[in-house]
Amino acid sequence: MRTLIRGGRLSLGDRIEASDVLLDGRRIAAIGQHLGGADRVVDASGCYVLPGFIDFHTHVGDCIGTFELADDYESGTRIGIMNGITTLCTFVTQGSRGSQETLRQALLRAQAHAKGHCHSDVAWHLTPTTFEPEDWEDLERLIQAGYRTLKFYTTYKNAGLFTDQARLEELFQRLGPAGARFLVHCEDDELMASVDTSTLDLSRASSHARLRPEAAEARTVAALIDLAARCKVPLHVVHVSTNAAAHRIREAHNHQDLTSETCPQYLWLDETWLDRSDGHRWICSPPLRNERPQFRELAREGVFDLIATDHCAFCCTDKDAWDQLDIRTVANGLGGLGGLAHLAWKLWEDDPDRAARELTLRLALNPAARLGMANRKGALRPGLDADVVVLDPSGPSQPIRSSLADTYEAYPGFASTLAFRHVFLGGESVVEAGELTNVDRPLGLALQGPA
Ligand SMILES: [Zn+2]
Repeated sequence: MRTLIRGGRLSLGDRIEASDVLLDGRRIAAIGQHLGGADRVVDASGCYVLPGFIDFHTHVGDCIGTFELADDYESGTRIGIMNGITTLCTFVTQGSRGSQETLRQALLRAQAHAKGHCHSDVAWHLTPTTFEPEDWEDLERLIQAGYRTLKFYTTYKNAGLFTDQARLEELFQRLGPAGARFLVHCEDDELMASVDTSTLDLSRASSHARLRPEAAEARTVAALIDLAARCKVPLHVVHVSTNAAAHRIREAHNHQDLTSETCPQYLWLDETWLDRSDGHRWICSPPLRNERPQFRELAREGVFDLIATDHCAFCCTDKDAWDQLDIRTVANGLGGLGGLAHLAWKLWEDDPDRAARELTLRLALNPAARLGMANRKGALRPGLDADVVVLDPSGPSQPIRSSLADTYEAYPGFASTLAFRHVFLGGESVVEAGELTNVDRPLGLALQGPA
């Protein structure tokens, strides 16, 4: 099947170009004018044509602590692809269901859950939690097999996820040379443990922001940047939420292999959401912060290479199932998948050409490069996977819908005029006029090799 996408404005990252795109089977075959030999022609006039988006940071099909996530692979990839996300990156956490499994067993479990249910392609970041000699061998084998992005946490001791600096240094030194890239959740656990809770009303959602202060993020981001520089390893800082951390990242960015992401909730939501009577619905970590206009300005300037959601939705019953006394008992996370493109676009909406270019960089090119998949994903280039978005910037205004699961909307009152006329996954038109063309035939592939 050869499809010609005709008459659109192509977003190539550094420029916008009026051109056509020819898809042949699973790949992009050509870009240019007067391309012939198509079986089907898609009219993209009035639209931008972009590479399919990659959400680099999502949680689906697993449990977090005692709570099952609201989205499984099917519903997560479904709301994603309807909003242009053709590659969903998610996590495999060793022992997340409390078992004594190895990391490889956890990966096999995730793959079994995902198989046949994904409407977009999927890639996994891995979180090992035990470090016996056989675990290191396991890790080295998995990196060789293409699982190159490893995620660590500097907090969450109770959940068994905490990794101390000495262990991180050992991981950097042993696995950096093997090709690993390191994703780190940066919040200083010691500093957070030292917060004086006697002055806080822990039943109030706003206390969450006091329990996880800005300084905790800034301190660990600075320490990890230094450690990664010393060990000469690639570092990706996930979900940056503070102006201080953003400034430190900007300083170091040109001197080492450092990338970072922020998320729509840190751009568009602030602490006033926690002050609402239902403020517990907006509990996520890091917490929502104030001084958002300055933070948005840093994002507009391009401090963050990626924008990703950290989609971590819980069903309404679970989100409400806290003891009403201590805000730390709320299921910790927000939805966001369906809102990613809309809320990223909003940063540059006064200049649509620029918005299209910035989305190409921060939702496609940069995450593909961080995954080590730039030869396959993330750009409109002959030979790459034919994951293509035909985006009308001037559709009817529609409310943001972050998830299709039974979960609270994280962005009530937010709307967007972006309309997904077509989304192609591996050359197949899987979304037309915003709707899935074939709900019962998920075409997504696992992008990494056998575990
Ligand atoms: Zn996360």
